[in-house]
Amino acid sequence: MPSSTKIENIDLLIIGAGPAGLAAAVEAQRGGISNLLVVEKGPSHSQMIRTYYKEGKRVDAQYAGVEALCFGILCLRDGNRESYLAMMDYVIESSQIPVRYNTEIWSLAAAPGADAFDVSAASGLRYLAKFVIVAIGKMGRPRQPDYYRHWMAPTSWWLAVATARRNMPKC
Ligand SMILES: Cc1cc2nc3c(=O)[nH]c(=O)nc-3n(C[C@H](O)[C@H](O)[C@H](O)COP(=O)(O)OP(=O)(O)OC[C@H]3O[C@@H](n4cnc5c(N)ncnc54)[C@H](O)[C@@H]3O)c2cc1C
Repeated sequence: MPSSTKIENIDLLIIGAGPAGLAAAVEAQRGGISNLLVVEKGPSHSQMIRTYYKEGKRVDAQYAGVEALCFGILCLRDGNRESYLAMMDYVIESSQIPVRYNTEIWSLAAAPGADAFDVSAASGLRYLAKFVIVAIGKMGRPRQPDYYRHWMAPTSWWLAVATARRNMPKC
């Protein structure tokens, strides 16, 4: 790695600015975690919804037979694609959730000797994060073989998620 690579220290790094990542960010922020960052590979939030929902598509809070009880701050109401996107625009702006777009995460591993995760983006940015929430959705990447193996390394992704969950402070 070039010595000029910039490393940012973050308390909570959330990967993916879809509904799950943004809801986690709002909850964490209200819980008092201020040094947090959401990183999103697309140029705007909710890429999956922008890509796969047709214009005007109805969005149901209770979806696919699952009763979604909301215990948190961000509760989805019945609406459509556009009302959902507008609500998330409002949430990001009014809560001042820091979201870094065009930042695709490629690897995540326990940082040797540090009580943190070493997270690298395709852009070359690196983060040292105390906690990580992976919210890349079912269609999230990496899935491609050339870097898939990095994510499946013994000290990587799943361990990171498990550790982050275990250590997450009660807010
Ligand atoms: C056609 C269709 C209709 C649906 N209708 C409904 C409905 O009416 N009601 C309902 O409740 N649910 C509906 N769903 C399901 C709902 O869309 C998903 O459950 C929801 O989007 C999942 O949210 P998420 O945040 O977990 O993941 P996603 O919405 O997939 O968001 C993940 C985000 O992570 C980003 N990302 C991925 N990989 C990386 C990476 N390596 N680095 C950085 N960022 C990354 C993506 O760009 C994306 O923005 C529907 C789904 C589909 C496909």
